[in-house]
Amino acid sequence: MTAIALRNVTKRFGRIHALRGIDLTVDGGEVFGFLGPNGAGKSTTIDILLHYTHPSSGTVEVLGHDVTADPVAVRERVGILPEGFAPFETMTGRQHLEYAIEANDADDDPDTLLERVGLEDVANRPARDYSKGMAQRLALAMALVGTPDLLILDEPSAGLDPHGVRRMREIVREECDRGATVFFSSHILEQVEVVADRVAILRAGELVAVDTIDGLRGAVDADAELRVELVDDPAEIASAVSELEGVSSVLERDGSLVVACTTDAKLTVLDEIRAAGGTVRDFTTGEASLEEVFVSYTGGSR
Ligand code: ATP
Repeated sequence: MTAIALRNVTKRFGRIHALRGIDLTVDGGEVFGFLGPNGAGKSTTIDILLHYTHPSSGTVEVLGHDVTADPVAVRERVGILPEGFAPFETMTGRQHLEYAIEANDADDDPDTLLERVGLEDVANRPARDYSKGMAQRLALAMALVGTPDLLILDEPSAGLDPHGVRRMREIVREECDRGATVFFSSHILEQVEVVADRVAILRAGELVAVDTIDGLRGAVDADAELRVELVDDPAEIASAVSELEGVSSVLERDGSLVVACTTDAKLTVLDEIRAAGGTVRDFTTGEASLEEVFVSYTGGSR
C-alpha cells in the first residue's frame, strides 16, 4: 500500500514559492528520509501532509485518504512528532502520555512508552524540569501512542544526546519491523544514512533526488571519500581541487579537506594539492558519506 502520495504539490506564501510541484510516493513499510537545507520546504510539506496548511495546488494522499477531504481519518492513523515540540509545563511526562492515550482512544501503557524512550526515571517530574532532549523523547513517546500506521517525525533527533539518537533510531527500526511507515525530515545527514531505506532531497521547494543512499552515491559519481590533513589553510587549496574531473564535492572540516570523488581520481587529488603548493600531513580514504552527496545535490548549502 502507498503510505504517502503527493502529486504536483505547490505552496505559495505570498510571493514565496515554498514548494514547486512536488511528486513523491512513499511505500508502506518504508523508512523514508526527507532531507534538505534550511528553508527548503520540509516543514511545509509535513504541514500539508497533516492538513495543518492547504497546498496551493496539487493532490495529497496519506494512507489512501485524500487529506483535504478526510483529514480526521488521516490523523487517526498517523503518529506525529512536530518540530519544536513544547510540553505543558505543569504536566508530568506520564500525564502527557495519559493525555495522548485518552485523546487517541488508545490502550497503550504509559510506563511502557516512557521506558521505550528512556524517560522512566523522570516520569513523575513536571515537564518544565525537562531538558530539550528529554522533551524530544517525550514527543517521540507521544507519537508512538496508538501504534500508528505512519509516523511523521519532523527533525526527530533535534536536541538528543548520542544515546537518545541511538534510541530514536532503534525505535524507528522497531516500528518499521512491525509494519509501520516512517517519514522523517532531517538535515543531520549521517543519521539519515544509517536508518533510511530511501531518501528525498529537497532544494528550494523542488525535489532534486529520490533514491536509496547507494543510488544517490552512484548518481553523483562519488564512490570514495578522501580526507586530507594539510599543514596549510585548506580553504586556499579547496578551489583547485574542486575543479578536477571526478571530484563531486569538497568540504573543509576540522582543518582537513574532505573530498568526494571517484576512486580513480584520488591520486590526482593528492597530486593537485601538492601542485597548488599544499603540504599533506596525512590522509585517509573511505566510502563517500551522504554529506558529500548532499552537498553536491544542494550546491553546497546545508
Ligand atoms: P528548516 O530546516 O529551517 O526547518 P524547512 O525545509 O522546514 O526549513 P520550511 O519551514 O518549509 O523549510 O520553509 C520553506 C520556505 O517557506 C521558506 O522560504 C520559509 O521562509 C517559507 N515559509 C514557511 N512558512 C511560512 C509562512 N507561514 N509564511 C511565509 N513564509 C513561510
